[in-house]
Amino acid sequence: MVKICTKCKKPAVTYIRYNGTHLCKDHFIQYFEKRVKKDIKKQGKTYTKSKIGVAVSGGKDSLVALYIIHKIFSKRKDIDICAITVDEGIRDYRDKSIDIAKKNTEILAVPHYIVSFEDMIGTDMDKISKKQNELGECSYCGVFRRFCLNKTAKKLELDKLVTGHNLDDMAQSILMNFVKGDIEKLARLGPHKKVQPGLIPRIFPLRIIPEKENALYAVLKNISFHDGVCPYSINAQRGDFRDIVDDLEYKYPGSRHSILSSYEKIKDLLSEKYPPAELENCPICGEPTSQKFCKTCILKKQVL
Ligand code: SF4
Repeated sequence: MVKICTKCKKPAVTYIRYNGTHLCKDHFIQYFEKRVKKDIKKQGKTYTKSKIGVAVSGGKDSLVALYIIHKIFSKRKDIDICAITVDEGIRDYRDKSIDIAKKNTEILAVPHYIVSFEDMIGTDMDKISKKQNELGECSYCGVFRRFCLNKTAKKLELDKLVTGHNLDDMAQSILMNFVKGDIEKLARLGPHKKVQPGLIPRIFPLRIIPEKENALYAVLKNISFHDGVCPYSINAQRGDFRDIVDDLEYKYPGSRHSILSSYEKIKDLLSEKYPPAELENCPICGEPTSQKFCKTCILKKQVL
């Protein structure tokens, strides 16, 4: 039987389990955009005279983040928007998603910068994967990607860097750090209140939006996206936490929101106990680091 929208008489396109509402296309889009706009304001305080870069992989989350940032800010004359894509060098995966990212940035007429691990690190993920490395692929990939994004964002003189992290990602990260006992890392999860020299502040416009709602928004807005799976993701520890969070959400709807809001409540206390470390410039690459050498330079030694 077709369900009817809780707010009007139109047929519903979705059922939001955690708040018990059925929503039609228009009310879902309204519900989605309202929450995102409110949270963007909360995270960024001011966007006046800003240069905003969006990290775009070509997947649904990053493209929805780009569309929504474009929708909110593109008419403002004091704000410039661009997109950055990092090509990690994963054959038959990233090349396909880059093509889709390109098409979307062309539709929106947003300048698009593509940088690669090969150029910025000196190797790529396919080569790293073939070596017997101490860590799993994702450990190298995550560190190198953050390095490429931050360095490129500084080169482009950006004020803010937007990523497509969604509610599922946030809940998984919070839980993962708790389980590993890495409370210092937990205290440093973005978005950050304090701007650290040399690090471009991050904005997560979709952090309170569940992954499935991002996918639905992309479909309803005709945003084409790449939905392939990275061949190295099978090794990712995150997969276990994804299953745990999915299971919790299924049994207790609203669990993901509760994990994030509980974290938000204790975040200031954590930051007091573990204030952001004083950063020095890495003597090898010049990027900010709290250690003698930055993580990128340490990991590069293992793979080059
Ligand atoms: Fe990189 Fe791992 Fe993500 Fe693949 S799954 S793109 S290796 S972080």
